Amino acid sequence: MKKYPFTTIKKPVSEIEKRQRAEFYTDDTGFPVDVEAFVKKEIFDEYVEMKCLDCDYEETVDFDMLEEMMEFDDSDYPSLYCPSCNEGTMVPKDIHLKTKKKH
Ligand SMILES: [Zn+2]
Repeated sequence: MKKYPFTTIKKPVSEIEKRQRAEFYTDDTGFPVDVEAFVKKEIFDEYVEMKCLDCDYEETVDFDMLEEMMEFDDSDYPSLYCPSCNEGTMVPKDIHLKTKKKH
């Protein structure tokens, strides 16, 4: 797995959530899933804490989505449009810290 220059947070997926995902998958693909076996597995969701370089607005974003964006942009870290100030760029907190230190 690729090493990223920022921290990701892993949160365990709840049993209810796992059950919903398994059922959703079956509905979506028509492919039967052993729901009970799936629920017993340890599954984690990965998130990144993003922070705006302009207004310091913070948001926790799903890592899967960010990873796709990084591949698309061919970048080491994701950057998002800030929904709070509508001008700034949101980057992972670690990158935010490094960037601020430079100035
Ligand atoms: Zn902002």
